[in-house]
Amino acid sequence: KKMTGAEIREAFLSFYESKGHTRLPSSSLVPEDPTVLLTIAGMLQFKPVFLGQAPRKVATATTTQKCVRTNDIGNVGVTARHHTFFEMLGNFSFGDYFKEQAIKWAWELSTGVFGLPAERVWVSVYEEDAEAEAIWRDVVGVAPERIKRMGAADNFWSSGPTGPCGPCSELYYDFHPERGTQDASLEDDSRFIEFYNLVFMQLNSSTGGGGGVFMQLNRKPDGSLEPLAAKNIDTGMGLERMAQILQGVSNNYETDLIFPIVAKAAAIAGVDYASAQPAVKTALKVIGDHTRAVTYMLSDGVTPSNTGRGYVLRRLLRRVVMKGRLLGIREVFTPAVAEVAVALSAACDPAVQRNAQRIYDELAREESLFATTLERGQKQLDEYLDRAAAGGKAIAGPDAFMLYDTFGFPLELTQELAEARGVDVDVSGFEAEMEAQRQRSKDSRETLDLTAQAGLAALAAAVGPTAFTGYSATRGAGRVR
Ligand code: ATP
Ligand code: MG
Ligand code: MG
Ligand code: MG
Repeated sequence: KKMTGAEIREAFLSFYESKGHTRLPSSSLVPEDPTVLLTIAGMLQFKPVFLGQAPRKVATATTTQKCVRTNDIGNVGVTARHHTFFEMLGNFSFGDYFKEQAIKWAWELSTGVFGLPAERVWVSVYEEDAEAEAIWRDVVGVAPERIKRMGAADNFWSSGPTGPCGPCSELYYDFHPERGTQDASLEDDSRFIEFYNLVFMQLNSSTGGGGGVFMQLNRKPDGSLEPLAAKNIDTGMGLERMAQILQGVSNNYETDLIFPIVAKAAAIAGVDYASAQPAVKTALKVIGDHTRAVTYMLSDGVTPSNTGRGYVLRRLLRRVVMKGRLLGIREVFTPAVAEVAVALSAACDPAVQRNAQRIYDELAREESLFATTLERGQKQLDEYLDRAAAGGKAIAGPDAFMLYDTFGFPLELTQELAEARGVDVDVSGFEAEMEAQRQRSKDSRETLDLTAQAGLAALAAAVGPTAFTGYSATRGAGRVR
């Protein structure tokens, strides 16, 4: 019998409880840590402890953490494994156990509790970390051809430009062992999925170092990286990814953790998910993902606005509405889809259900507001389309920019709507207008960029709503790829 998402979550937490860890609640999506806008990993609530700035309350802990990663927004519905909102299961050691124990338990959990066949699990280690490699090979017994050394971009983890960091080791699942071990690359996501990251947190970066500096520290200490007082363990396993693996579905969206939301959106749009075109499936997945994100963000007290977290929330919700439009949905629908997200939230975060009515009200209000803008934009677009179609021309760059700037139409939406009428859009003309606006607002923005929140808004304005990658990406949030 296949494990449900709820069973996977519970199995992880109780496994680590059986190893003496204290089960602690998820922290809010709104972090106390000022260096990131939203909670991007399970370690965030423990950062002061890792840094030795706060006393540890327990020696070891296990959590399921609500996370939002805006840097993955472009991957949503495109890759099989990325969300903006996801749950990260974690086990943590605050100066208690270290590398060997963490590796052994990760293996026992993956192959024993979750039953993954040993020969389907591959691991990566940081190229400088011969110790981790030896533990996997000699203590755990992983075949050397399934251990890959990787560079800092993948295997040196930090949550931001400064703070605790260290080399990491990741576990991957092989969907296609029949392809053999020769020339296999863990980067090949048609074959492998990363599901568990073990970070050996032993360094404090004060200058935005990261990979490479780990090496330098041993060879040439230059003060830019200092060892932490204690060696810690910080791990993260994507709940939705483990569910994809164990439920034998082809992407995270088809697991029981998310699919009911996707199915609800499909029902409202009157489409059949299973037989839908890829673009329709992607739109439904985006709705499924972003609806979860906005539901949890609203529950945690974020409200739509034009700056900071509120801006992220607004962008995500607008994307839901626009994807809905493209599927032919005309009425207010986000509260109905959110009802399913709320129903699925109980085991992750009981507060969501208590906040349900407020969530629906805010969704309905924000969606209606946006719908009004969209309708005005649609009238404008229709005029441009009539003109372009009559003259056998494309929609001019300045016109596409006008739709973007005044009515909030991302280029992507204009293109999709134009394409339905067989009309092109002058993309380079649009980009030239964007660039001109960027230049115009540069000075005023630079004075605002000093705060994290203004930095986010400026970034989003600079890259536009569709290519929006979010705050953590600009801050070079460590190895959060
Ligand atoms: P990837 O390389 O696939 O983008 P990552 O290396 O950025 O993942 P980590 O920062 O190591 O991810 O996070 C720990 C774990 O959290 C990952 O191993 C994965 O299981 C899960 N995870 C990370 N990002 C996402 C996401 N956007 N959606 C769903 N799960 C995620
Ligand atoms: Mg990775
Ligand atoms: Mg990783
Ligand atoms: Mg990533």
